Amino acid sequence: MYIYETHCHTSPVSKCGKASAYETVCFYKQFGYDGIFITNHFLDGNINPEARVLPYCEQIDYYFSDYEEAVRIGASAGIKVFPGVELSCKGTDFLIFGLDKEWYKAHPEILEMKKTEELPYLMEAGALVIQAHPYREAHYIDHIRLFPRSVHGVEVINSNQAWGANEMAEIYAEQYGFLRTAGSDNHWGGNAFTRLREKGFRPELAGMCSDTEINSVGDFIAGVKSGSFRSFLIDENKKITIRE
Ligand SMILES: [Zn+2]
Ligand SMILES: [Zn+2]
Repeated sequence: MYIYETHCHTSPVSKCGKASAYETVCFYKQFGYDGIFITNHFLDGNINPEARVLPYCEQIDYYFSDYEEAVRIGASAGIKVFPGVELSCKGTDFLIFGLDKEWYKAHPEILEMKKTEELPYLMEAGALVIQAHPYREAHYIDHIRLFPRSVHGVEVINSNQAWGANEMAEIYAEQYGFLRTAGSDNHWGGNAFTRLREKGFRPELAGMCSDTEINSVGDFIAGVKSGSFRSFLIDENKKITIRE
């Protein structure tokens, strides 16, 4: 079985990221993962503010710089690293898989769109669009926002959430027939278990697993769409629990 992290952040590109690309990649490799998606906060979200003074294309270069460093580290460490993006709208977040740096450079207009225009536009361009932790509540979120007509699916397990929020996401996915993903929203590399415990959450990471190895984001998207990926939780002792 092959296991993948689908949702993690690195420093300095994500302002809230606490672990470097190096620490993050080494942690997942040591922990036995086959691959990780780096899903830092995009230009519409909690990107490091030092990027904001740059012209658009240079902001995109900056945005992908942690991912590119992670790819280099992963290549020597022996773990695959894939690109993802986390978009934001007033604390509501979306994971975007399947578009590359050149695509974002060619499409600065996305920053001017409201999310109900932008998300279908990304889907049209070939992206897999997933609403991350749809039932998250936090002091900076005025109210829960759902976009049922603008996504392929939802993140039904985000291990950096109160568990009830995941159960609500599962009900939402079931009712709407959505695709499902699971991920950790890891901002801390190998310190994730400690931080989760401090936050009062279960000390587990979440991810997606498959019997077949993936070699590209396209393989991942195809696997999520065909149902060949399953969600899993993993604890500090590397005990894996698979959810169907
Ligand atoms: Zn963050
Ligand atoms: Zn995130």
